[in-house]
Amino acid sequence: MKEIQSKQLLAAATEYGTPLYVYHGEKIESQYNRLKGAFKGVNVHLHYAMKALNNINILKIIKGLGSGLDAVSIQEVKLGLRAGFKAEEIMYTPNCVSFDEIKEAVEMGVMINIDNISILDRFGHEFGGDVPCCIRLNPHIMAGGNSNISVGHIDSKFGISIYQLRHVQRVVETHKMKINGLHMHTGSDILDADVFLRGAELLFDAAHQFPDLEFMDFGSGFKVGYKEGDIVTDIEAIGSKISKAFTAFCSSYGRELELWFEPGKFIVSEAGSLLVEVNVVKTTTSTVFAGVNSGQNHLIRPMFYDAYHHIENISNPKGTPRLYSVVGYICETDTLGYDRQIAEIREGDILRIKNAGAYAFSMSNNYNARLRPAEALLYNGELNLIRRQETLEDLTRNEIEIL
Ligand SMILES: *Cc1c(COP(=O)(O)O)cnc(C)c1O
Repeated sequence: MKEIQSKQLLAAATEYGTPLYVYHGEKIESQYNRLKGAFKGVNVHLHYAMKALNNINILKIIKGLGSGLDAVSIQEVKLGLRAGFKAEEIMYTPNCVSFDEIKEAVEMGVMINIDNISILDRFGHEFGGDVPCCIRLNPHIMAGGNSNISVGHIDSKFGISIYQLRHVQRVVETHKMKINGLHMHTGSDILDADVFLRGAELLFDAAHQFPDLEFMDFGSGFKVGYKEGDIVTDIEAIGSKISKAFTAFCSSYGRELELWFEPGKFIVSEAGSLLVEVNVVKTTTSTVFAGVNSGQNHLIRPMFYDAYHHIENISNPKGTPRLYSVVGYICETDTLGYDRQIAEIREGDILRIKNAGAYAFSMSNNYNARLRPAEALLYNGELNLIRRQETLEDLTRNEIEIL
């Protein structure tokens, strides 16, 4: 697969203006196939975590690859159905939602992943053994990286503690429930296979108490590189280790189960770029700022997670590298990149912010009454607009003027 070229990105910026998200369809496909191919000799199924990026065209590409979906709200479930996924291909993994939402999803035929004992009890009371469900366990394994995106630790609101298994068992037995899967999702940044495997072993142990399992779902946490030299998940190594452990588990369980994952970031992060235009170059006593026509309203990860997103000047790639802080136009300190070496920036240049496929557009907002940007897709040699930029009417549509 050939990576997207600056020339193609500049053409997109010229065609549709900036700020603009551009996605590369073939990159999504190659990431999906690479991940799927890393698990050999096991029956592996991927459910794309659609909260990363949910444009209908992206969902359709991913559906075309044979993926299912992982949805975290009833609205995501409905967007998945609208994109053509069948209900039974969608796993709904809610947390702290009302039971009515869960019932609504069951009525649609969506699979349910339960992460709370009180909800499990209500589910059993309502459906008994008629509707199978999956249980989300928290193995309390610390994933690497930023604590905001580690969801396996002891204070986490996610999942049912592995130490509460006895209680889970009693609820399941009382209502004669059918548990078809066990799930864990330890966090968004996992450094190596051993973290995964430690959690996996705990789930394998727990599995022997559930005779009706059809799958084990190990969530996600597959890391991609955001900057040169980043430690990334070695997918092939992790795949072969987990496949081996899973095969051994299946033989001790007595049946071949499906092995599930729910990747979001790994599939779409690198496929996306945010193109922005430099409005001003501002030299202060200490810093040279490049102020762009975007900000935390379009890409919040640098402020929210202290995430690094690589920035290139695609208008002047051969310019002399200089130090810049790239900042947004929002009335907040919305620094997109601090003290970066970037080819000389002139007002009017187009900057490419990389790794803008996952948790980028999907976390965008309207702060400062700014409009969410357009999205474009380069796929099969064609460039198309896949979402228009918002208008002022979009901002005021639901406002009720009473005075
Ligand atoms: C967010 C989420 C994922 C995806 O995580 P990535 O780091 O984007 O791969 C998977 N499963 C669940 C339950 C999630 O909430």
